[in-house]
Amino acid sequence: MHFPRIPADTDAIALASRVRAFVCDKVLTYEKDARNTAHGPTDALRRELNALARAEGLLAPHVSREYGGLGLSHAQRAPVFEAAGYSPLGPVALHCAAPDKGNMHLLEQVASPAQKRRFLESLARADSRSCFAMTEPAPGAGSDPLLLQTTAVGDGRDFVVNGRKWVITGAPGAACMILMARTFVSGRDLGATMFLVPLPNADVRVERLVDSMDSSFTEGHAEVVIQNLQVRAEDILGELAQGFRYAQVRLAPARLTHCMRWIGAAARAQDIALAHAATRQAFGKSIGRLLAPTRI
Ligand SMILES: Cc1cc2nc3c(=O)[nH]c(=O)nc-3n(C[C@H](O)[C@H](O)[C@H](O)COP(=O)(O)OP(=O)(O)OC[C@H]3O[C@@H](n4cnc5c(N)ncnc54)[C@H](O)[C@@H]3O)c2cc1C
Repeated sequence: MHFPRIPADTDAIALASRVRAFVCDKVLTYEKDARNTAHGPTDALRRELNALARAEGLLAPHVSREYGGLGLSHAQRAPVFEAAGYSPLGPVALHCAAPDKGNMHLLEQVASPAQKRRFLESLARADSRSCFAMTEPAPGAGSDPLLLQTTAVGDGRDFVVNGRKWVITGAPGAACMILMARTFVSGRDLGATMFLVPLPNADVRVERLVDSMDSSFTEGHAEVVIQNLQVRAEDILGELAQGFRYAQVRLAPARLTHCMRWIGAAARAQDIALAHAATRQAFGKSIGRLLAPTRI
């Protein structure tokens, strides 16, 4: 099989070196900060890290220059996100972690000019955070989004939303939620629509934080109850009933950027293991040397 050769992007690689140096020199030390909790970094820690990245000119590498980012292409993001991922706090510092990174991408692609002014501008500057609410407890939406149970019922202009979401990363303290709901207009099921909901809102309640194996995402993962939330046509992100299409716009590149960041984390894990293998002594030598192939 023949794979086309992709020329190295020297600018992106130089930027990745700067990011790696920034993470090693400024970010690693925060990993033991008390504000880096079992439910991820607190918002106060996130803001402090964003200020450090801003001062280095490294904030929001994926966001277009129009909104103050570095305007990197998807291919250019690969080495930069990998370098950021060397610490779980690196992507948080650069403001290119989930869910904000995917949400900014979706807003840039789909939001109206008014919605961009209202939600994207402050988000791109890291003055606020956002969350994305699609997943629901069983029997609701997960891998199969067609199971969506949250409903938005209305006449096409005004809607009332009810439902329950979980594993909603960053919901506590978010300034905006992209909310996916099955939409019924005059009794007809039109499929999923995404709504933009400013937070806090009395009708959107964070019920609890979900315990998880990871502790990498700002303010953790929440279970959220939505009760009689009123939304209007101007709160629709993009077009009515296009929620599944927009989910792909958001999730497809986001799955790849997850991989980019976690490759950086894997490199860190390997460095830690190698350092340990070089210094730990057993059977009269460093354990790294014990791993040399032996004859059985
Ligand atoms: C760290 C983290 C952060 C998240 N943040 C968010 C968020 O901010 N907002 C949000 O809306 N959601 C979020 N999620 C939820 C995520 O989108 C769901 O976990 C995912 O869609 C899977 O849904 P589920 O957990 O209900 O698993 P299920 O749908 O119950 O699937 C469970 C398992 O079944 C198997 N399976 C399912 N379908 C297939 C298939 N077609 N073929 C073969 N095997 C299959 C797979 O092993 C799958 O892992 C997050 C999840 C994680 C882990």
